[in-house]
Amino acid sequence: MSRTLFRNGTIWTGTGAAVTALTIADGRIEAVGAEALARAGAADRVVDLEGGLLLPAFGDGHCHPDHAGFEAMGPRIRDRGSVDEIVEEVRRYALAHPEDEWIIGASYDSTLAPGGLFDARWLDAAVPDRPVVLRAWDYHTVWCNTEAMRRAGLDASTPDPARGRFARRADGGLLGTMYEWDAVDAVLGAAPARTTEDLVRALRLATETYAAAGVTWIQDAWVEHATVDAYVEAARRGLLATRVNLGLRADPGRWRDQLAEFAADRDRVRALGDDRLTANTVKFFVDGILENRTAALLAPYADDPCTRGMPVWPYEELLEAFAAVDAMGLQGHLHAIGDAGVRSALDAVEHVARVNGPRDRRPVIAHVQLLDEADLPRFARLGVIANIQPLWARTDAAMSELTFPRIGPERAGRQYLIGSLLRAGAAVAFGSDWPVTDHRPLAGLPVAVTRENTEREPAGGWLPEERVGFDDALSAYTAGVARQAFAEEERGLLVPGMVADLVWLDVDIRRMDPHDVALRTAVRGTWMAGTRIHPPSRQE
Ligand SMILES: [Zn+2]
Repeated sequence: MSRTLFRNGTIWTGTGAAVTALTIADGRIEAVGAEALARAGAADRVVDLEGGLLLPAFGDGHCHPDHAGFEAMGPRIRDRGSVDEIVEEVRRYALAHPEDEWIIGASYDSTLAPGGLFDARWLDAAVPDRPVVLRAWDYHTVWCNTEAMRRAGLDASTPDPARGRFARRADGGLLGTMYEWDAVDAVLGAAPARTTEDLVRALRLATETYAAAGVTWIQDAWVEHATVDAYVEAARRGLLATRVNLGLRADPGRWRDQLAEFAADRDRVRALGDDRLTANTVKFFVDGILENRTAALLAPYADDPCTRGMPVWPYEELLEAFAAVDAMGLQGHLHAIGDAGVRSALDAVEHVARVNGPRDRRPVIAHVQLLDEADLPRFARLGVIANIQPLWARTDAAMSELTFPRIGPERAGRQYLIGSLLRAGAAVAFGSDWPVTDHRPLAGLPVAVTRENTEREPAGGWLPEERVGFDDALSAYTAGVARQAFAEEERGLLVPGMVADLVWLDVDIRRMDPHDVALRTAVRGTWMAGTRIHPPSRQE
């Protein structure tokens, strides 16, 4: 047995107790506090925390590691501040990568063009002869050049697809911005498919990035059948740096045929016998997003009274499909943004409990952006885990320029009700939706705690009663996510017997200005089951 002692810092156990020493042995936590110090003499290794903070490692309850990995491999258009800067980066990338037949990148800021309308001709100016397709930061929208539309066979005569919409010029010609499923697929479907090897590279990159951020478990919230091959391959080759649970996406067009695939994918992942990889979850997109007016609302959009959004599933079919995957013992993970979307998701959970009977099923509703007061108590009552992205709960450009006008002032005040959900007894777990927003829990924490944007506005927080305390925010990233993963007996707290998943920060973030947490905190080390996974070369 090898024993490691951590000392000379603060240890936040997640149980309300803070101690100053901890020992781990054989991948598990052995002792904390005085009992750990009593074993100091028999420790094989000592980690001097140098006055920093040791926590249970973080989890990310909703993310897209393949997209994030690919984003890092393509043109770097994230954080570009203007259309010109994006076009310039695409031009630079195209010159540096003559071998790329299609240039695919992500993800641009939709607020940089009025109304989110991006013109194909702007990209034509940089790359006229090869297709270019860029995803917007919401991942529900793409902007492409004329050559991409030509290769995809799209022109003025192409009607809007069933689940999606093309932005058009005054003369009916296609502008180059495509919204939602079928419209996005109409372009991207023409591009060569990613190879398994490309995907393995993206997954390795993404999980290594997570390990460096102190994260040891992630929920991939959108896995297609082909991506499972890449995960299995990456796991076989030992290239996954963290634990990953796969959320296999249910397609409203073919979910009945998918049931056998889901079972086969779960079983072949299980057969690997590697506890880093599981495939226990099925993902349902209940609706879209408010920025595009595709999130499903109970009342019409404020700036377009003709629409209440675009549910992805016929209501009855959503209930039926969820019941079918639940009967297979799989967990449901439902994307719901609008108040009608959230209500449908809750109805689906209620339906499943009724038809399939009681079971520890831990349904997850992700995002929960707009919530009707009447639905608030249903989370606790139905045992639903609200998976929320704290970085979205602030008045940034997307919120004030795109969302507020869409829903009007009354509904604007019913968004991301994290404090209310906790007070109503709901289980809350945090996630990032990376690459939609920053993957680092240390970037999301300050927003959960302050509800202020990076300019520290509005002072005192947007919807201040929805702020949460530091301990609650940390718990939502640790014990809350462990519960979502059915692993609360194993991870999320630092108590003897639990798996030694740890993160060491250089400072005690609970004692700093919350805004500084994202800017001035370093992750000094990450351990998974007692093995140090960050920095990668260190063996402590
Ligand atoms: Zn997502």
